[in-house]
Amino acid sequence: MLQRLLSTFRFDLAVDLGTANTLVGVVGEGLVLDEPSVVAVERGTGRILSGGCAIGQLAKQMQGRTPERISVVRPLCDGVITDFELCEAMVRYFLRKARPPGWRRKPRVLVAAPGCITPVERRAVFNSIQRAGARQVWLIGEATAAAIGTGLPIAEPVASMIVDVGGGTTEVAVLSLAETVADASIHTGGDVMDRAIVDYLRRHYSLRIGTAAAERLRIDIGSAFPLPKEQTQEISGVDTVSGLPRKATVTSEEVRQALGDPLEAIIEAVKSTLDQCSAELAADLVDNGAVLCGGGSLLRGIDRFISEQTGLPARVVHEPLSTVAKGMLICLEHFEKWKPTLHSSDEDV
Ligand code: ADP
Ligand code: MG
Repeated sequence: MLQRLLSTFRFDLAVDLGTANTLVGVVGEGLVLDEPSVVAVERGTGRILSGGCAIGQLAKQMQGRTPERISVVRPLCDGVITDFELCEAMVRYFLRKARPPGWRRKPRVLVAAPGCITPVERRAVFNSIQRAGARQVWLIGEATAAAIGTGLPIAEPVASMIVDVGGGTTEVAVLSLAETVADASIHTGGDVMDRAIVDYLRRHYSLRIGTAAAERLRIDIGSAFPLPKEQTQEISGVDTVSGLPRKATVTSEEVRQALGDPLEAIIEAVKSTLDQCSAELAADLVDNGAVLCGGGSLLRGIDRFISEQTGLPARVVHEPLSTVAKGMLICLEHFEKWKPTLHSSDEDV
């Protein structure tokens, strides 16, 4: 009760600003917003459509179906902000949507960022969120937030490994005593997988498809490990020779083959993280295994694939798309405990 009362005075927000999806949580309320990180703009002017509301869900629906003069843009790429103005507009829109009714004060915001972020990129995140309407901003490493969200005992002297496969990046981290003791962050995630499927279909079927169609194919029949019953799916695209639309039937084995290189890159990231670990930490990991989260971990059989390739037991968390945001909310609720692991916009100048 007291916690709830305090939180209504404090109004702290957790913002998981992902390359693919943004989630917002309010202390005392839980997750209140979950939308794609996309904005629909008019080419040339850069004006956001629908009176500034073509952001998130609405913009995603327009993707791949827009006339020439409209483009659907992602303000983040590979986990970092690439379009500052649009990122600010998007965050402002999401903060306004997530704000409890009647609240006028500026919120304090905790935001998550990939481990590979540079000090300049970190400053850009602080500036963007502050200009979007935050009073003060803290930043937490995505892997730390994910580990807190999965309930791993990261504050204890036992090594835990987290693998967050997002849209733009995959973050691998080993944590012990609340600190990252080994990590790797690579620019391979769902987006690279989709581009690999697009390439595969062009090379093997002379068929051009968009990345949104490739994502659907990956989600529907994609896998990292042979399926008990392999599947097929019909896909529409444009013939690269005739330029005419046509269909092709693709098998789940082919999609798996297309995903070979990105999956290999994820295995390499896990192995390079293991290489940084002492024998004691590695021994803990052999017992405790790796915990997978992020939307990319919903690829069928990815846990089994990682397990077979690295020798570590691996499991996917329940609801992997919201692990980071949930971890951030826990962090805000026990703020004093986690404060030493955060960067603040006030100190970082
Ligand atoms: P980010 O943190 O980078 O925004 P997310 O953790 O939100 O990324 O994950 C987004 C990725 O998850 C996208 O590439 C999307 O295609 C993928 N994804 C979402 N649902 C599924 C699913 N059911 N199967 C496979 N991949 C999925
Ligand atoms: Mg993420």
